[in-house]
Amino acid sequence: MKYSALKGVHDILPPDIYIWQKAESTAKEIFSAYGFQEIRVPIIESTDIFVRSIGETTDIVEKEMYTFPDRADRSITLRPEGTAPVVRSYIENHLYNLPSPQKFFYSGPMFRYERPQKGRFRQFYQIGVEAFGAAEPKLDAEIISMLKLFLERLRIKELKFEVNSIGCEKCRPDYKKALVSFFSAKVADLCPDCNRRYINNPLRILDCKSSACTELRKGSPKITDYLCKDCQSHFEEFLSLLNILHITYNVNPSMVRGLDYYTRTTFEITSEHLGSQKTVVAGGRYDRLVEEFGGPATPAIGFAIGMERLVEIIKNVNPEFCILSPKVFIAAIGSKASTEGLLIAEKLRSKGMQAELGYDNVSLKSQLRRADKLGSNYVFIIGDDELQSGMIKWKNLKDGSQGEIGIRDAAEFREL
Ligand code: ATP
Ligand code: MG
Repeated sequence: MKYSALKGVHDILPPDIYIWQKAESTAKEIFSAYGFQEIRVPIIESTDIFVRSIGETTDIVEKEMYTFPDRADRSITLRPEGTAPVVRSYIENHLYNLPSPQKFFYSGPMFRYERPQKGRFRQFYQIGVEAFGAAEPKLDAEIISMLKLFLERLRIKELKFEVNSIGCEKCRPDYKKALVSFFSAKVADLCPDCNRRYINNPLRILDCKSSACTELRKGSPKITDYLCKDCQSHFEEFLSLLNILHITYNVNPSMVRGLDYYTRTTFEITSEHLGSQKTVVAGGRYDRLVEEFGGPATPAIGFAIGMERLVEIIKNVNPEFCILSPKVFIAAIGSKASTEGLLIAEKLRSKGMQAELGYDNVSLKSQLRRADKLGSNYVFIIGDDELQSGMIKWKNLKDGSQGEIGIRDAAEFREL
């Protein structure tokens, strides 16, 4: 084989594509019910948009971005995530002048130069939402509830909802001090990245994936013990609304998330079906980011769903889920019958029913074999006798029932 796809990228083929489409259409339906509108932002942006928002000492910016100079020597980056471009667009298009909150969802590919492995790709897809202009914990709770509904619609159960609050710029300094003093005796044993982060951004040590740092952070101070009064009451109200909405969750005080822009609420949804890359949804508040980007002070919250991981779960729990197969397969013997079959298929298709035909004048037996392989629900059989009598035989391949329908009425055929 002469050509192959690049390492860490993948084609999405049938039948998997039906699961993707189902997940995407369900997201659109549910998110729209909550007032989220679609936004499409570019795949390429100026590099500094990501460096400024995600943070210089994060994994993404330090080692995962696809950054290159364009022909005019500008530094361009293939988007590694969706929040920064949406925030850029929100400010650039003055969307803050519209009534608050403004709620958007996006869907598309993201790019990160990571070591490819199960659940981790270099081009992967996310569906995400961003809501601007409401600081109230009610919005945080609604967003979690929306995710619950979305996942239920896809018949995914047994996911864990983990929540936390990482406070604001008022509570962060004391917490950082506590972390620095906790790690002071362990610095030498931290991984080289965290050794640097210890000085610049000690919070990042909590998110490090190396086994040394995972071990060393056991017993570290909890951010939830350092929240200021406002952040504390925000978090308490958020949790109480989750209770009222009957959402089962787990408070995980060590979940700080891999991006610097988060404030207050953070959350992740994890699944036991995914092995070690088990986070399928991740998000949180970023109340300062719009202002830091040069917009007006605007609280905001969002999340992103990792689509490959979501599809993997659906394949695990509902293997037969929405595999599209022809409703009707028309098997014809002889060229006249074959033409009649074509006309019937066209009529059925114009009514929106999926119809498939036999080709190449093969035997009835091999046409029926193909109908079966395609997972057809019904087969129509047309031969000389049927042409003469004007009646077509149909058979339900799922339950074996059969009957007849007039050739002229075939377009009116309904699933029984
Ligand atoms: P992780 O801890 O798995 O590296 P992250 O903190 O980098 O995740 P986010 O940037 O918050 O992840 O992205 C949100 C979601 O997007 C993740 O929970 C995951 O489902 C998905 N995701 C992130 N990176 C990848 C990747 N390289 N390949 C596939 N999916 C990914
Ligand atoms: Mg990552």
